[in-house]
Amino acid sequence: MQFRRYKDILATRAENGEVLGFHARNLEVAELSEKVWQALENEITLQKDSEIRAELEVWHKENSPDTTDIASSQEISTLLLNVAQICNLKCTYCAAVDFDGKNESAGTYGSKITKIDTHKAEQQISYFLSNLKDSKSFEIEFCGGEPLLYPRVIESLCRYAQLMVSGRDIDLHFAINTNGTLITRESAEMLARYRFHVTVSIDGDPEVNDLTRPVKAKNGYGSTELTVRGLEQLRAVRNQLGTLAVNCVFGAHNTRVERAFDYLESLHLDFDRYNFNFSNNDRSETAFEISNRYLEELKKTAAKLYARDGLSGLVKIKQFRRPLTRLESQTRQHNYCGAGKSLIQSDTRADLYVCNWFMNDETEKIGHLTDLSKPHLEHYGSTLIELNHCQTCWARHLCGGGCMAVHKSFSGNRHEKDPNFCHRTRQIAALAIWYYKRSLHETH
Ligand code: SF4
Ligand code: SF4
Repeated sequence: MQFRRYKDILATRAENGEVLGFHARNLEVAELSEKVWQALENEITLQKDSEIRAELEVWHKENSPDTTDIASSQEISTLLLNVAQICNLKCTYCAAVDFDGKNESAGTYGSKITKIDTHKAEQQISYFLSNLKDSKSFEIEFCGGEPLLYPRVIESLCRYAQLMVSGRDIDLHFAINTNGTLITRESAEMLARYRFHVTVSIDGDPEVNDLTRPVKAKNGYGSTELTVRGLEQLRAVRNQLGTLAVNCVFGAHNTRVERAFDYLESLHLDFDRYNFNFSNNDRSETAFEISNRYLEELKKTAAKLYARDGLSGLVKIKQFRRPLTRLESQTRQHNYCGAGKSLIQSDTRADLYVCNWFMNDETEKIGHLTDLSKPHLEHYGSTLIELNHCQTCWARHLCGGGCMAVHKSFSGNRHEKDPNFCHRTRQIAALAIWYYKRSLHETH
């Protein structure tokens, strides 16, 4: 796909020669003529065609204010609790490792305290719930390491949170990120009882997944069989769960997205979401090439899903979901995620961070228990578009400034962008624009 730009208007041309325009601020999509495309070739050609220039200028000016006029609200409505800073797997790419980077410490984030303190977690739940003002909904997300090492702790915290909201007009949700290997009938029923949104991590078929996700105790033994057994337990309670998603990690170790998708579909679990994530720990000279290989695979998989299920299939892929929902609702994304604004993360020591992936860096700590550092929080008061200096990017309101953890792992600074991330994001956003426009033609 080719891109040309006039101020906040992006023109994209597909291989078949069709040209679409996209307005970066009001998120409108429109068909453009070949003449406009030619005029946009450079400043000289545009100067020659004053009529086209004037039309583009009118469209550019049509708009509501840009992101700098938006105040970011700071009210914590998602609490991530790290139940277990220990894991039964040792995935080859695990980022939750000690500073030594050895994956024997996978899931620990370098902490010696492996289990959450239930009493402290209850204090946090109570504190953040009682501080809700505008939001009528609150989510508690359990993560790790592997959180299902301690299912009873999870259940007791769910029970506690339910008691805390009883009689109040608060919609309480529970979510869990698990490797799925420890799901038993009992824990599946517990997840169903609390209508959990469940995300299971698996990278694809056994040939791939067993290599990347081995069991810690059985050196070299793959975890696929155990995860699939766990998914079978979820099948029995599938209708009682909130949503069921899969989390796949791609990167230098594996870029075969389509193959993973085919395998996951063959399990017939009717997943609600596919999180096809790209691991950003590759600093080699081939990082761009690998990122592009992943992107091509993601595009092929998107084409397959769209051909089968249209837009409702495509939104199942996390990477397409954000731009598509923004295009449909014509509402702008100001923050890639809620870090430091609506979301807070507690580790097993009850130390607070804005993001899961900052937990092995003491300098990122923003508080303890229920005591949040004001200056740290104030830092996150602006939108991520501003903090990450994305004001001139055409995709800013479909992206929201990008992932700070990805940026940090590339540059060492959470606000200094990873160019590979930006390249992938813009390519996906442009493709989403095309699919979106196509779907309008097909439904009308
Ligand atoms: S399941 Fe998650 S925490 Fe455990 S080793 Fe794999 S990536 Fe790390
Ligand atoms: S694509 Fe990159 S520059 Fe654009 S908004 Fe996202 S992070 Fe910022």
